[in-house]
Amino acid sequence: MEPFKIHILGCGSALPTLRHNPSAQVVEIREKQFLVDCGEGTQLQMRRSKIGFNRLCAVFISHIHGDHCFGLIGMLSSFGLLGRTMPLAIYAPKELKPVLDMLLETFCNDFDYEIQFHAVDTKKRAVIYEDRSLTVESIPLKHREPCAGFLFREKPTLPHIRRDMIDFYSIPVSQINNIK
Ligand SMILES: [Zn+2]
Repeated sequence: MEPFKIHILGCGSALPTLRHNPSAQVVEIREKQFLVDCGEGTQLQMRRSKIGFNRLCAVFISHIHGDHCFGLIGMLSSFGLLGRTMPLAIYAPKELKPVLDMLLETFCNDFDYEIQFHAVDTKKRAVIYEDRSLTVESIPLKHREPCAGFLFREKPTLPHIRRDMIDFYSIPVSQINNIK
């Protein structure tokens, strides 16, 4: 198991305060970074926390209240200005799509990276992201708007088996379920 690192960039609520930034958290595992919610000022908080922009591979938006997504278009714009080419996946309730399309069309239509929008069904639990090392599952949450939480789960790694020791101890292949 690799350690997960969580950077709490903001934990405040709808109205600004000097003590909290709006909601945004970066989950970091195996050199990959995932952003959960993107409140206003998230990109500045990433700078303050010395989180690079380049390793962010996906953004997860829990629900469509401004304090959870007002920072998104500014951050996407900055990625474009910095010459990002790696695609960025955005997982969010479907209601965000038309708003995001309009903002991207207006402000970010000549950037070199692709934004892949994935609508999250906030009514059911489902694996919405998967790569070699982890899965992310959506979890329906109660709120005034359709809302989902996100469960990051590392995949179990296979035990390390040495071919030379298998031969040495004459272990039958039928007893080994992950030999290469
Ligand atoms: Zn809310």
